[in-house]
Amino acid sequence: MTIPRVDLPADARLDTLAVREGLPPSPWGENSEALFITSSFVHPDAATAARRFGNEEDAFVYSRFSNPTVTMMERRLAALEGTEACIGTASGMAAILMLVLGLLKGGDHVVCSQSVFGATIKLFQDFARFGLEASFVPQDDPGAWRAAMRPGTKLLFAETPSNPLTEVCDIAALAEIAHARGALLAVDNCFCSPALQQPVKLGADIVMHSGTKYLDGQGRVIAGALCAPEHIVTGKFVPVMRTMGLTLSPFNAWVVLKGMETLSIRMKAQSERALALARWLEEQPAVERVFHPGLASHPQHALAMAQQGGQGGAVVSFAVRGGRAEAFAVIDAARVCSITTNLGDTKTTISHPASTSHGRLTEEQRLAAGITQGLVRMAVGLEDLADLKADLQRGLAKLG
Ligand SMILES: *Cc1c(COP(=O)(O)O)cnc(C)c1O
Repeated sequence: MTIPRVDLPADARLDTLAVREGLPPSPWGENSEALFITSSFVHPDAATAARRFGNEEDAFVYSRFSNPTVTMMERRLAALEGTEACIGTASGMAAILMLVLGLLKGGDHVVCSQSVFGATIKLFQDFARFGLEASFVPQDDPGAWRAAMRPGTKLLFAETPSNPLTEVCDIAALAEIAHARGALLAVDNCFCSPALQQPVKLGADIVMHSGTKYLDGQGRVIAGALCAPEHIVTGKFVPVMRTMGLTLSPFNAWVVLKGMETLSIRMKAQSERALALARWLEEQPAVERVFHPGLASHPQHALAMAQQGGQGGAVVSFAVRGGRAEAFAVIDAARVCSITTNLGDTKTTISHPASTSHGRLTEEQRLAAGITQGLVRMAVGLEDLADLKADLQRGLAKLG
C-alpha cells in the first residue's frame, strides 16, 4: 500500500492546489479536511505492522513522524512551492534546526545573510559548540557571498526580503554560487510566501517556512516546514523527525492547511495595501524615508519585482524625522494597529525594531544594519486602508 493522492488534473494551477491538494477524503466523504487527533494508527495484523515499521509499506504509524492532517499540509505546501516533498515542524525555528541536524555536521561551514531573523543567526552561532562554522554576509552583495565560500561550505541560507528594511537578495545568483561549489541554497520564504515567490523556480534547493506567519495568516498557531526534493526529505529529514521529534501538532497543521486556501488572495490584498500605504507615507513631511520593495525608490525595485511576481509584500518600514521619542509617538497614537512584532496576520501590526526585534544588538550593530531609533515597522493586514492612514496620521500630525 502507498498513501493515495487526491485525484487532480496534472496541470492544476497554484490557486487550485492551494484549495484542493492534500489527501483524499476518508470513507465518510468529508468536504472539509479532517483533523486526525490520534497518536497512533492501528494495523490489520502483526505482519502488516512489521512491514510498516520496517518502511516496506507506506502507511500512517505514529504521529511523531506521520499523521494524515500533517501530510495534507505538507503536500499542499510542497505543491505551492513546487517541490517534490515537504516536512512539517513544530515551529519555523524547528525547521531551521531540522535543516542543521539533517544536513550538517561538525566542521561544515554555512554562509548566511547578516539580515536574517535574529533567532536564525543565534541558532547558527550556537552550533559553534558542535563545530559548525558560520559566516554572515551582506544580504544584497553576491560578491560577498562568493568570497565567503570555503571548501567546507555545505549550505547557503538566505531570507528575502529582509526584516525590517526589506532588502532583497538575488536568489538565482546565490543558487549559482552555491551549486558551483557543491553546496545547497536554503531560502526562508516567510515574507513573500509561495503566493508571491517560489525560490525553487529560481534555483534554490530548500525552502524554509514559519507557518506562523502568512501561511496561517491569522496569527493563531506556531508551525514550520521545510520544502525540498524527495530524497532530502525522506533521506535526511524524516530520520531526524523519527529520533528527535520536532513534530508539528495535527491541530496546528490543520489551521495552516486551511489558511493556505486564502493565501494567494490575502498576500495580494495585503501587498497592495502595503504599497499604497508606503506611497502615502513617502508624501508625509514627518517621514524621512520609506522602505518597501514595491516603491520605485527601493534600491532593488527591479530585482524584487522580477523575483516576487510584481508584488512588494505586506511589510513596510519607515523612518520618522527625529528618533525614538518620535517613533514611539506614532506607534502609541495608533488605535487600529496592534503593537506587536508578529507579522503575517490579517490584523496590521506596528513595532519599533530598535527596541524590540533588534533590541539585543548594540547601537553600533543596529546602525550598521540601518536600523535607526526613528524606524517604525508595519506588517499590513486587511483593514480598510483609510483607517490605517488615519491611524498613522494621528501620530505623524503631532510631529509637526
Ligand atoms: C517568525 C520567523 C521565523 C521563526 O518562526 P517561528 O514559527 O516563530 O519559530 C523565522 N524566519 C522568519 C523570517 C520569521 O519571520
